Amino acid sequence: MSTVTDILIDEATLKQRVQEMGAEITRDYAGQSLLLIGVLKGAVIFLSELAQQIKLPVAFDFMAVSSYGSSTESSGVVRILKDLDESIEGRHVLIVEDIIDTGLTLDYLYRHLQNRKPASIGICTLLDKPSRRLVEVPVKYIGFQIPDDFVVGYGLDFDERYRNLPYIGVLKP
Ligand code: 5GP
Repeated sequence: MSTVTDILIDEATLKQRVQEMGAEITRDYAGQSLLLIGVLKGAVIFLSELAQQIKLPVAFDFMAVSSYGSSTESSGVVRILKDLDESIEGRHVLIVEDIIDTGLTLDYLYRHLQNRKPASIGICTLLDKPSRRLVEVPVKYIGFQIPDDFVVGYGLDFDERYRNLPYIGVLKP
């Protein structure tokens, strides 16, 4: 049985940073409307809190992807389980992710969505584990850089558990 032993990022720190990111996005996209694309399921809580801090017309859409491999290691081969509901052609798109680890998932998604001719496309991630990166992805907004620990909470799971923790914790066996 795994347990969450340490709080890596507490609730107040998350809230503060998400507010700052929302303000930055509001400034950068001033005068435009934005389509937030959430990657299910991990990004759901971050997307919903971030969206409330973006003071622009915003729409949501969601994708579900699975990477072939074990639950903690991605393989780089990505399968789309749920595609977007709407076309993104000509729209300003921001992909919202929970965490970038190897970068393989986002590298695939970014290139795949770019082919659909959005007006612009950016990536926003709450967490970044730079030490694990295998492919470089152009990330526009990063909440926190974290060490190579397996984290849960604020949308992130282990075996579908812990998503509802209001903080980011480190899971230890
Ligand atoms: P990447 O393709 O960048 O290696 O993997 C990204 C995906 O791996 C994330 O969207 C997430 O689902 C999963 N992942 C990577 N690191 C962690 C972690 O520390 N905790 C959890 N819960 N998921 C992780």
